[in-house]
Amino acid sequence: MIFRTPMEGIDHPEMEADVVIVGGGPAGMACALRLSQLIDAHNTAHPGAELSKENIYVLEKGREIGQHCLSGALLDPRSMNELLPGWRDEAPIEAEVSSDSLYYMTRKSAFKAPITPPPMQDHGNYVISINRFAKWLGAKVEETGITIFSGFAGSELLYDGERVAGVRTDDKGVDKSNQPKGNFEPGYDLKSKITILAEGSRGSLTKQLTGKLGLCKDRNPMTYGVGVKELWELPAGRVKPGEVIYTMGYPLTTREYGGAWIYGGKDNTVSLGFVTGLDYPDPRTDPQHVLQSFKQHPFVAKLLEGGKMVRYGAKTMPYGGWWSMPPLGGDGWMIVGDSAGFLNSQRLKGIHLAIKSGMLAAETAFESLISGDSSASQLGTLQQKVDASWIRQELFPVRNFHQGFEHGFLSGMLNTGLLMATGGHGLRDRYPAHSGHERMLPLWDIMGHGGEREQLLGWAKGDGKLTFDKLTDLYHSGTRHEEDQPAHLVIHDTNICATRCAQEFGNPCQFFCPANVYEMEEASDAPNGRRIHLNPSNCVHCKTCDIMDPYQIITWVPPEGGGGPSYEGM
Ligand code: SF4
Repeated sequence: MIFRTPMEGIDHPEMEADVVIVGGGPAGMACALRLSQLIDAHNTAHPGAELSKENIYVLEKGREIGQHCLSGALLDPRSMNELLPGWRDEAPIEAEVSSDSLYYMTRKSAFKAPITPPPMQDHGNYVISINRFAKWLGAKVEETGITIFSGFAGSELLYDGERVAGVRTDDKGVDKSNQPKGNFEPGYDLKSKITILAEGSRGSLTKQLTGKLGLCKDRNPMTYGVGVKELWELPAGRVKPGEVIYTMGYPLTTREYGGAWIYGGKDNTVSLGFVTGLDYPDPRTDPQHVLQSFKQHPFVAKLLEGGKMVRYGAKTMPYGGWWSMPPLGGDGWMIVGDSAGFLNSQRLKGIHLAIKSGMLAAETAFESLISGDSSASQLGTLQQKVDASWIRQELFPVRNFHQGFEHGFLSGMLNTGLLMATGGHGLRDRYPAHSGHERMLPLWDIMGHGGEREQLLGWAKGDGKLTFDKLTDLYHSGTRHEEDQPAHLVIHDTNICATRCAQEFGNPCQFFCPANVYEMEEASDAPNGRRIHLNPSNCVHCKTCDIMDPYQIITWVPPEGGGGPSYEGM
């Protein structure tokens, strides 16, 4: 198997840039829009000393803006009110939240909480399609004169010593053997004064940067959940537009972290998904199976009866919170949005934080363009801006929320109560955390049969109506890649897959990947008679494998730009 690695001896054309924003999701688009606003205001106030937007670029790996954007998606409007007052009159909104409720699920029953806990109350929030919303923001950015390069992934950072000096975009037209094809085009070297990473959860350049500079040494490890989602069309009147339902409990047991959402959109559609914490103990846990089991619960099955699943997708979310966030700015770089962990896991919301962090990065970049200083002392002021903003007011009180669930659901709930009573301090100001993959148990420490966990384990079969196997679900994600290209899931030692991993964990990649990318195939010449086989063109870019592989030998790198899922309408 040949993996995608940088090609040697290729000349890359250079382009000068003032600012490069990597990622065209809400954080990246908000950053570009805010920067444009600041430049416009400056140019009006200082005729003759205008700043240009010509050398500001947004790189988006999807074929078009929004194509890879998948989320719940419930929008707290706070940051949009600041970015674009009046946005509600023109933005694509599915519905304003009309009701919210929380249920605790046992295997057969669903108990409604008498009141929705305050962090989950959604009055004033909006159900949106993040795909359509990002597209709309993208059109706004294009109106400003800032250039968006769609179909271009950032494949590596350029360095000048320890300073980030820009981004290299992906080479196009590389075949399966990592050799140039007839349509080969080398990637560009965008030499930039400021590089802003807004790549989403577990960004590949963010991982390169934090690893190279050792940025997270004194932080808690970032923890994640993977949200697996389906969009359904239901009989009229079944779920009202703007109706929001959260659930806890079944099909998870008290050892796993996670929960579900059901959001009513317009035209009788619902977004339904289940987030499984990527810190579960049983290596056979399959998050796509978790969603299928959730739908079989009588409460959910009744809601979906007579409906039709129309779309599917998956995305990871950074749960680690305040203590897990990397430094936000340094020599030539800043990190925003999900890439930096701007998500409130207690509220299950991050879009408003991603937007606000993008805006604050824009303000920092603007000051840098004015002063001509893009060193760590200037770009590092992003941290001070975040500290002085409502982001800190929201995230700091929940800084120890997710860590409380490391010992199970009940201790997590008790800890939540304690945190609320102590302003987030709890028993000590900073609870430690462990990487999720470290909590996976070897096969000999778990029961051979599933026991109370049976509904989470292995592949779901699917009945084709209410439940679906992985490949059927995947078909509804619209995923498409150029087939003749090297695998973009880089396994650094495939021998481990066939030997240690098979014996210790039973190759959990077969289960945690929601897109059936990893398979163990029969091979008489392989150790133990089986070897790993990849189907990279199935990949929905969720990054679960990069996070949850127990040996940390899988690296997700961007495939040729333009490939990936197509989350139209989600
Ligand atoms: Fe997600 Fe990795 Fe599977 Fe792609 S290969 S869908 S990134 S788990």
